[in-house]
Amino acid sequence: MTKSVVTGGAGFIGSHLVEHLLAAGDEVVVLDDLSTGTFDNLRDSAGHPAFRFVQGSVLDQETVGTSMDGADRVFHLAAAVGVKLIVDHALDSLCTNIRGTETVLETALRARAKMLLVSTSEVYGKNTADKLDEDSDRIYGSPLKARWSYAAAKAIDESLAYGYWRERGLRITMVRLFNTVGPRQTGRYGMVVPTLVGQALRGDDLTVYGDGEQTRCFTSVTDVVPALVRIVEHPAAYGKVFNLGGETEISIGDLARRIVRVLGSDSAIVHVPYGQAYGEGFEDMRRRVPDNSRARELIGFRPRTGLDDIIRQVAAASPAMTPETLRAAR
Ligand code: UDP
Repeated sequence: MTKSVVTGGAGFIGSHLVEHLLAAGDEVVVLDDLSTGTFDNLRDSAGHPAFRFVQGSVLDQETVGTSMDGADRVFHLAAAVGVKLIVDHALDSLCTNIRGTETVLETALRARAKMLLVSTSEVYGKNTADKLDEDSDRIYGSPLKARWSYAAAKAIDESLAYGYWRERGLRITMVRLFNTVGPRQTGRYGMVVPTLVGQALRGDDLTVYGDGEQTRCFTSVTDVVPALVRIVEHPAAYGKVFNLGGETEISIGDLARRIVRVLGSDSAIVHVPYGQAYGEGFEDMRRRVPDNSRARELIGFRPRTGLDDIIRQVAAASPAMTPETLRAAR
């Protein structure tokens, strides 16, 4: 039986990965400090005989060591994520994202496990290229701005991972996720889709930050999770990084209009200045579009879930969903 360890397994993406691994027949250990993840995310996995939960931090070497004992593969998702969270708790985010990753890398090496490091499209920073491929340049603002220090920390994680592959022989692969969305993602840390869907379901105004012309490409977690497993198992992937993202670019203003339409909501859409949303001096990315060619060529990655279905999935799982709003959704 393959033993998989998922750090951050009680989080949004981690909990979907755990379900996928259990269904594939793995023994799964989740290591999570429940700082942003919740045990509730694991309610469908908790009763499974091959499932074990360890509450602890990736900063605690001993706990990391015991949870990874005998592991065949390690999926490292534990991280401070969400623009709102990292802006509000910049220092803790840096420590978790750098020291925590170093601890997990060292422990995976000792366990002789394969490892997947989940990184982020934030590493590209303000690069607004037509399509970002994995070798695209990183363009950052001041390191005193929390968003850029977060991006820098994740980039350091990748450099560390690469060093562990090249100089220590750790079989590690990295992925950069682009705006992954789906059920269980919370709007609490700023993520736009669950936030706007919740507002639309409650009849509140949808808060579009800035002019709403900034664009993103959204992917369903159900398209991303199987790709994580296929990539970690591919020997040609070691020491490489792969973009995984949606292929349809949409502005946040259009996203808000789409959510209102798909959910049959009568909410209004309002614009909120960035300074009010995140504090003065905040810089957003105007655009972020992935080039998925590398993952497509290696494992045939092709995101299949369209945006309307993503919106419906998020709405169906939203705490704001009621029988009336369900009927309104088309
Ligand atoms: N955003 C918004 N309203 C919200 C939350 C976010 O307009 O209530 C915007 C945010 O400023 C950004 C985009 O939506 O331009 C995506 O934000 P998210 O935090 O989901 O992801 P990221 O910025 O990391 O791509």
